[in-house]
Amino acid sequence: MEIIRTTNLGYCYENDENGDAWALRGVDLSIQEGEFVMILGPNGSGKSTLAKHFNALLLPSEGEVQVMGQSTANAADHWQIRQRAGMVFQNPDNQIVATTVEEDVAFGPENLGIPSAEIRGRVDEALQAVGMTAFSRHAPHLLSGGQKQRVAIAGVIAMRPRCLILDEPTAMLDPRGRREVLETVQRLNKEEGITVIYITHFMEEAVAADRVVIMEQGSIVLDAKPREIFQQTDKLRAIGLDVPPVAELVQDLQQAGIDIPSDVMTVDELVERLCS
Ligand code: ADP
Ligand code: MG
Repeated sequence: MEIIRTTNLGYCYENDENGDAWALRGVDLSIQEGEFVMILGPNGSGKSTLAKHFNALLLPSEGEVQVMGQSTANAADHWQIRQRAGMVFQNPDNQIVATTVEEDVAFGPENLGIPSAEIRGRVDEALQAVGMTAFSRHAPHLLSGGQKQRVAIAGVIAMRPRCLILDEPTAMLDPRGRREVLETVQRLNKEEGITVIYITHFMEEAVAADRVVIMEQGSIVLDAKPREIFQQTDKLRAIGLDVPPVAELVQDLQQAGIDIPSDVMTVDELVERLCS
């Protein structure tokens, strides 16, 4: 089942004085149910603008966006689209709305008008899914950044979305918080089958995905499996993205005459190759 489709999507912010404010141009993208897609690209390449089209926070200036077959052009469907495609944003503090973790997670389903007896179960389930059950009575603002983002994810999960869209959810976190959030999202994808669209500027996080979409100046310039992306070191450099250290090391080793395949992606794989 196709969760998201964009067809020739273009978006133009209106307040530009140079006349050329197209943040997106000609974006064709199809995301299937169950996929874990990373969207990467330099600052200003249009990632957030694209993400906001996935749940009708922005509407196309050109082309079309469909969420599970429903066009975002139809305002009557926005409510359902936003419930199906839940968003998590960069700043965990801006997403806290209540004084305890469980109330915070209950907020979304309450707004959907879910009966309170059902909300209880959904909150418990969502907290379990992000590994935050032990914190249900805690004050969200006292949690670590990674924990806050897991609570924000639980809040979205409690609305039973088909698709989770995360816009740089780890940008403000320390390495430990980043790992927690990424592992949580991976588990939700693999075990609960939730479609994940994960925007990041950390190239090394791409290893976790099935598919990596790279944006540059409002368009998609690469769309491939992480292994294939990691091999395109020259192209990544040209776009202004970090080349993963492992990919760089593999290239250096190859140039030094060591027989090692180009699709090695992690330190563990590299060690295994070198030691076998
Ligand atoms: P990214 O998330 O990849 O950093 P954005 O989608 O935020 O990129 O921005 C894409 C382009 O749109 C940039 O040139 C940015 O300056 C412009 N832009 C983003 N938001 C606005 C806005 N609210 N008004 C005008 N221009 C904007
Ligand atoms: Mg952004």
